[in-house]
Amino acid sequence: MTETVPDSAPDSTPGSASDSASDSASDSAPGPAPVPTRAGVEVQLENLTRRYGSVTALDGLDLTLHRGEFVALLGPSGCGKTTALRLLAGLEDSDGGRVVVDGKDVTQLPTNKRDMGMVFQAYSLFPNMTARQNVAFGLRLRKVSEAERRKRSGEMLDLVGLSTQADRYAHQLSGGQQQRVALARALAIQPTVLLLDEPLSALDAKVRAQLRDEIRRVQLEVGITTLFVTHDQEEALAIADRVGVMQAGRLEQIAPPADVYHRPATPFVAEFVGLTNRLPATVNGGEADVLGVRMPLVDGSTPDGVAVALVRPEAVSLEKLSGAAEISSPLVGRVIATSFLGAVSRVTVDLGQYGTAVAQLATSQASEFSAGSLARLTLRQDPVLVVPDQPAPAPTRP
Ligand code: ATP
Repeated sequence: MTETVPDSAPDSTPGSASDSASDSASDSAPGPAPVPTRAGVEVQLENLTRRYGSVTALDGLDLTLHRGEFVALLGPSGCGKTTALRLLAGLEDSDGGRVVVDGKDVTQLPTNKRDMGMVFQAYSLFPNMTARQNVAFGLRLRKVSEAERRKRSGEMLDLVGLSTQADRYAHQLSGGQQQRVALARALAIQPTVLLLDEPLSALDAKVRAQLRDEIRRVQLEVGITTLFVTHDQEEALAIADRVGVMQAGRLEQIAPPADVYHRPATPFVAEFVGLTNRLPATVNGGEADVLGVRMPLVDGSTPDGVAVALVRPEAVSLEKLSGAAEISSPLVGRVIATSFLGAVSRVTVDLGQYGTAVAQLATSQASEFSAGSLARLTLRQDPVLVVPDQPAPAPTRP
């Protein structure tokens, strides 16, 4: 879900351009701007529940954001990410649980008393205001003096690299620039917390990656505690201090990106974050035997018996075999497809009764493996999550 309202109080209405004409004078002098900061605060969502009729959007969500931390909430459509953000913002009431910001219970406080900066999908700028007027809007609502509004909106536009575009209207800005203005506007009020709800999803891939890095740079510079909602795993892994993976209104795991990727706590996390191979395995003695290769176990793995190992494609390498090679080894199979992804490619190998395996290789190497050729797999002996032999969990709506 996305939202198209600005970071202003919900009972406010956009002012006319003339109201804020005094914010529209030419840019302040360029140069590094002092960044007004409000030290990051701790945020706790405690046992939050939210129901919509028969749908349980949040099912006892517990989440703590440390001071100045950037947490990305990741999960499939309908898992409750946006609901969590809206409850934190005070845009929705909860059916149970608490929201605590900087040690204060704000559960009953309305949005405009929570002082949170928000950026939504796109494009939420007031079309009848310039970039500077948009940035100054929340300050005007807060009765900040004109001089201070001008100063702070200039600093904020500087911070997001837009000081030369301050007098442009939204339609004169690209999508990425509009989202920078939205970010500057959200930060201008010196919010307690920054909330970003899929702020990049309407942008094309290249701009998205640039703006993602820009958001992170600004967040680090300001030091503000930030919650970022996305369904894009690459985005979440790239930007966050910790990634919270949600399913059906609950957190499945919250951990630094590398841990979520390499040490998924549940099969759902392993399947949702990154591509994964499901290879037959047997567990005993605290290790897995995966197609004859011994591999250490990730915590949470099934303790023994016949199971399935979730193996990342980049942990699989390939060696080309001649046509006469012995095909009876479980690690030998025929290439059925190669997909080109730029610098890397993925090669899918049919292992007969053992299923299929995808190897991720440098494209220069992958070109050796045409469809029909024989290949031998090598599995890197990384710790692996081994789960009971059941069908892959499908990302479901609650
Ligand atoms: P998406 O990525 O698609 O935005 P999400 O993870 O952010 O999904 P939410 O928007 O939080 O999911 O929705 C969680 C569940 O609550 C979904 O099943 C959704 O249909 C339902 N829901 C959310 N808002 C409402 C509403 N206002 N009325 C009824 N159901 C709602």
